[in-house]
Amino acid sequence: METSSKRKSSYREKRKKVRQAACSCCKTQSSFNWQCRCGFAICQNCMDENFWGMSCNGITWVCPDCGDSNGFGNQ
Ligand SMILES: [Zn+2]
Ligand SMILES: [Zn+2]
Repeated sequence: METSSKRKSSYREKRKKVRQAACSCCKTQSSFNWQCRCGFAICQNCMDENFWGMSCNGITWVCPDCGDSNGFGNQ
């Protein structure tokens, strides 16, 4: 519900705009995680490693926790 008129690459941002969840697989906090609405999060590394098991079409990935489908590129 906020207007995103700021530049994308503003380097110094004091506020956390997104809740950072640790990767549910390797427990590492990375700059980017794929997240399911159930709270499951997976980092890009783990996604790459588990891609064969989590995505059957390259368009969606299935959350191993709740079995829900999540789309790629839906940021
Ligand atoms: Zn991970
Ligand atoms: Zn889920």
